[in-house]
Amino acid sequence: MSATLILAPGRERSVMRRHPWIFAGSVDRLDGRARPGDTVLVQAASGRVLGRAAFSPASQIRARMWTFEDESIDDAFFRRTVTRAVEQRRDLPELAGEFGPRGGVRLLHGESDGLPGVIADRYADVIVLQITGAGGEKWRQAIAEALVRATGIARVYERSDSDVRALEGLEPRCGWLIGDGEPPFPVIAEPGVAGDVNIEIDVAGGHKTGFYLDQRDNRRLCGELARERRVLNCFCYTGGFSLHALAGGAASVLSIDSSGPALATARRNVGHNPQIDAARAEWLEADVFQALRTFRSEGRRFDLIVLDPPKFAPSAAHAKAAARAYKDINLLGFRLLAPGGLLMTYSCSGGVDPDFFQKIVADAAADAGVSARVLRRLSAGADHPVGLAFPEGEYLKGLLLRVG
Ligand code: SAH
Repeated sequence: MSATLILAPGRERSVMRRHPWIFAGSVDRLDGRARPGDTVLVQAASGRVLGRAAFSPASQIRARMWTFEDESIDDAFFRRTVTRAVEQRRDLPELAGEFGPRGGVRLLHGESDGLPGVIADRYADVIVLQITGAGGEKWRQAIAEALVRATGIARVYERSDSDVRALEGLEPRCGWLIGDGEPPFPVIAEPGVAGDVNIEIDVAGGHKTGFYLDQRDNRRLCGELARERRVLNCFCYTGGFSLHALAGGAASVLSIDSSGPALATARRNVGHNPQIDAARAEWLEADVFQALRTFRSEGRRFDLIVLDPPKFAPSAAHAKAAARAYKDINLLGFRLLAPGGLLMTYSCSGGVDPDFFQKIVADAAADAGVSARVLRRLSAGADHPVGLAFPEGEYLKGLLLRVG
């Protein structure tokens, strides 16, 4: 018999709207015993059954809903849910190439795919699984096996070392779940303006699961816009936007990141792309905030600037401090743009919504004394769906702007 989590009166509303998180403050009591990650039945105060959730006593998110239906949570549940997520992506023509031998695609996008705290990215012949919740922790092997069945890809590597695990009371855990040998360095083929761009991924040592697949469409757009422009790519990581800009015929591409290992991978990526002119690429290991101030004092100008900073606001509580950092970086960006220049600017902070982000960028333009217009609103690709009941899933937003 599983335990039952009973909500406080009136606190069932968000679960009834299929939001997957149950906060500690909404819980009245737990009937029975449950260990971290155990499946509990969820009931409204009235006794109405709302579904089943993974219990997480250490977290403010006390439980995460696995299902809003009357179904058991077992290996078959994970097979069904994983297969549905993979098939949904396979059905989309724009992702067809990502199921080829060197594709790169997010297969599981957590809450929005009905699997709270579970992320899976496919890089060519390896799947990388990242678990950030107590429920996924318990079912990792079932999820890994379901991924292999649904994709035919034989190897699954775990990268569960995100800081947020501490909030759930979970230790870091990395290594093979299925497969063995040295950690892999798969090379994916990312669609670009002039054919594929090859990108190597350091599965064991890279950030997150090794790469930022969410920017795939935006990197391609950067390649389309870069022709004959002087490009500045800030927070370049392993060079994704830079490689697409070079492949798109940029006059020059200056890329900045504070991570030496990321830049070492970026340099290797240049070698994986013989079609690009390496002489047009310059790589700078530096703090972007400082480097941009220096460029400003040197009077340097660029025609296309990419600003893709790390998450400044992990939650709404950090939004104010994050807003200052976003404004600062965008202000510096506007000041370095030549007349008619383009800015691709992003925020991947869950705590900053698209309207707020646009307002911050507008404030930055006003302070820089430039007129700018939005040419496009940008977001993550179709392999990062956003559950309608889970607006938090829309963490990545961007703007393509033109000044002057
Ligand atoms: N645009 C990249 C992803 C960027 S992730 C892509 O398409 O793959 C954010 C990057 O910002 C990380 O590589 C991190 O090392 C870098 N970073 C974080 N703070 C920084 C700072 N103050 N200055 C320079 N780089 C920074």
